[in-house]
Order: sequence, then structure tokens, then C-alpha cells
Amino acid sequence: MLEVSELVAAYGPVRALDGVDLSVERGSITAVLGVNGAGKTTLLRAISGLLPPKAGAIRLGGRDITREQPEDLVRLGIAHVPEGRGVIVELTVEENLRLGGLWRRDRAWLRTGLARMFELFPPLAQRRHQRAETLSGGERQMLAIGRALMSRPELLLLDEPSLGLAPRTAAQIVATLRTLREDTGLTLLLVEQNAATALSVADRAVVLNLGRKVADDDAARLAADDRVRRAYLEG
Ligand code: ATP
Repeated sequence: MLEVSELVAAYGPVRALDGVDLSVERGSITAVLGVNGAGKTTLLRAISGLLPPKAGAIRLGGRDITREQPEDLVRLGIAHVPEGRGVIVELTVEENLRLGGLWRRDRAWLRTGLARMFELFPPLAQRRHQRAETLSGGERQMLAIGRALMSRPELLLLDEPSLGLAPRTAAQIVATLRTLREDTGLTLLLVEQNAATALSVADRAVVLNLGRKVADDDAARLAADDRVRRAYLEG
């Protein structure tokens, strides 16, 4: 469903992506791995329209979306959960979720979507009227994912969902991603510095290093590849 070809993205003179190809199948979970500065965040920002690429192409379901604006990409079915969570801390849990659903202009979905998010993330149901600033790191991550899901995406881009979380919380969140994929057929692109966490849930994995793709394989095979692990994942 997503095809990235020869993608180049830069911040001034710094080439953060230098000709990256990526193919993501509908309904799959693809992990994007690599050490700090490999270009993982930049790849997500380019796909969600936040950073216009210098060259290359991005296609969603065959449609060229390389030059689309972020808000149009949300309507086309791409939701992005940025690193650092991106919830609005002054608003309550429910208000944050409703904001995510505004894109849909669909009152019936707003109701069923909210109920669905509270079912997926029970801690959010208990805290539905609390301001987001009172949430723990794990709950904020759940809220950020819930908010993105309220836009009913076909493709969810997740930037380091396990960052800064206790291993148990990270594992719970990852397990929820798997449930989501199984229940809804959602396609996921999951950026992680923690390769073990990501590989435990992904079908495929790509490894970036200095803006280039250095590995692209079945997740289980990549997990067993000592050479790739030593060279690119233990930074
Ligand atoms: P991290 O996990 O640290 O976010 P990453 O793999 O996501 O790493 P990117 O954030 O995509 O890597 O960064 C890729 C390269 O682009 C790095 O060399 C980084 O220093 C540079 N870079 C990222 N953001 C900016 C920016 N806003 N301005 C200038 N250079 C940037």
C-alpha cells in the first residue's frame, strides 16, 4: 500500500535520507530500525508530509502523495504519532481523543471511536476527564496512539512508542498494536531504537544507517542476523 522510492530528504546541507526505497504491504507491521541519527524520524516526517522530500517519490495505494500537505494526508488515511507523544497536555483525555476524530466529521464514529479507544486502552477510560498532563508516560503514549486512531487511518506511523517507558508498559503497548492489526487490518510503520521490542511484533524490518537502507528482511530472519545486529543496531 505504501511505496517509497529513491527518497532524499535534507535539513539544509545535511542529507538525512539518501535514496531510500521501502515497500509496505497492507495489513503488515514494518519496523524501521537503526541507531540515533540513522534517518528514521525523517522517514516518517517525509511520509506524513511534514518534511517535503528533495527527490524521490512516495505512493499510497498507487497514488502519488509526494507533495501532499499533512492535513490532506490525514484525510487520505495516514496518521502520525510523533516522538515525544504529541498530546495536548492542557486538554482532558477525552478532549484529546475527540480532536483526533474531528478530521472525520462523522458524529456516529466519534461515539463508537471513543468507546473503541477506551476498550483498547482501559487506563484511558478511567481517566477520561483528567487532563493529559496528569497521565503517566505509558498512558500518554496510549493517548497519542488513540488520538491518531480516531482519525481512522489506514496507515499508522509510530515514532518510538516505547521510548522512556518501563519494559512492561512498552510490551503492553506493542501487544495492543498487534491486536489492532488483527482486528482492523491496520498497516503500521513502527520506528524503534529498541530493535528487540520492534522485532517481536513486526512482520518485516528495515534498517537505516546514515540515511541509507542497509537491511530489509523478514523480521524473524533479521532478528537472527548477528552481522546486522552488531553493525547497525548496537549503537
Ligand atoms: P533519533 O532516534 O535520534 O531521532 P533518527 O534515526 O530518527 O534518530 P533523524 O532524526 O531522522 O534520525 O536524523 C537524521 C539526521 O538528520 C541526523 O544526522 C540528524 O542530526 C539530522 N537532523 C534531524 N533533524 C534535524 C533538524 N531539524 N535540523 C538539522 N538536522 C537534523
